[in-house]
Amino acid sequence: MTSARALVLEEPRRLVPRQFDLPEIGDDDGLLRVEACGLCGTDHEQYTGALPAGFAFVPGHESVGVVEAIGPAAAARWGVQAGDRVAVEVFQSCGTCAECAAGTYRRCVRHGMGDMYGFIPTDKGPGLWGGYAEYQYLAPDSMLLPVPASLAPDVATLFNPLGAGIRWGVTVPGTTIGDVVAVLGPGVRGLSVCAAAKEAGAAFVMVTGVSPQDDERLALAKDFGADLAVDVTQTEPAKALRQAVGRLADVVVDVTAKAPAALAQGVAAARPGGTLVLAGTRGSPDTPGFWPDHIVFKELRILGALGVDAPAYRAALDLLATGRYPFADLPRRCANLDGAEDLVRSMAGEGAPPPVHGVLVP
Ligand SMILES: [Zn+2]
Ligand SMILES: [Zn+2]
Repeated sequence: MTSARALVLEEPRRLVPRQFDLPEIGDDDGLLRVEACGLCGTDHEQYTGALPAGFAFVPGHESVGVVEAIGPAAAARWGVQAGDRVAVEVFQSCGTCAECAAGTYRRCVRHGMGDMYGFIPTDKGPGLWGGYAEYQYLAPDSMLLPVPASLAPDVATLFNPLGAGIRWGVTVPGTTIGDVVAVLGPGVRGLSVCAAAKEAGAAFVMVTGVSPQDDERLALAKDFGADLAVDVTQTEPAKALRQAVGRLADVVVDVTAKAPAALAQGVAAARPGGTLVLAGTRGSPDTPGFWPDHIVFKELRILGALGVDAPAYRAALDLLATGRYPFADLPRRCANLDGAEDLVRSMAGEGAPPPVHGVLVP
């Protein structure tokens, strides 16, 4: 094999196959044979142009695969060998700058947010910087996460959303034993927050969604640690909590997309002195029903959470491997490179209804 097939997003809505030469692997880098690449909101936002790039690139930032080739220095640094199954952290880290040393490598001075896998120009050699490809380049500052042997590659791609669930639902707000947790949005990240909160010892977890498009997800939520699933077209989340547990939430985690009313619902559902996490991007400046004084009166702690980090990813892979929650059975649609565009379009709400979990299997 001297070349690899990949999909290049040349501009919004133009996803075209292209053949790339495989790079020579030296002492300090490696090559991944991509087995599966999970899809999330970022993928369809890149595709539609809601998240414009301005350059051609190979998308795909939730890659799992087998290390095909690796240099000796890279193998020592990453602790993996050729033949190992790994997940690839989205961000790269130089390991030496102040941000990297502090663990906040998303703000690495050498790489930072502009150097994420699945969002790097094909002009930068060797071009194979994403998971929509048979092979993905592993640059020296990559971070690799070993995948437990029991996990199938398509299930292992959940390291990304479940890592987000752990960081956004537990680490960032400090969720602890006995907490009442409200999760706004029952997508794969919302279900992941439910499981993570329950694992952290939450006494009660509520998840909300909007009927009818969220009915399937709300029905699944009880298997993922939710004690109560609420359709916000029928019941106000705050009222549902009062009825169920007699009080409001210690922690509210908003992982909604295109649901501007969720912010006001989250503020209403939080107890005085509680914590509200706004996670992922909302894609809208609208906040109907939101009144800033409620934050003052309740002395709420409002925290933004954007990405995930390696400790959360490792915890996610461990939790997936336990099989305690039925992540392997999530309604999942897999597509190969030829079917990728249809799958991404359906996740953007065009064509067929979106699956709970979409995975590319190059
Ligand atoms: Zn993603
Ligand atoms: Zn750095």
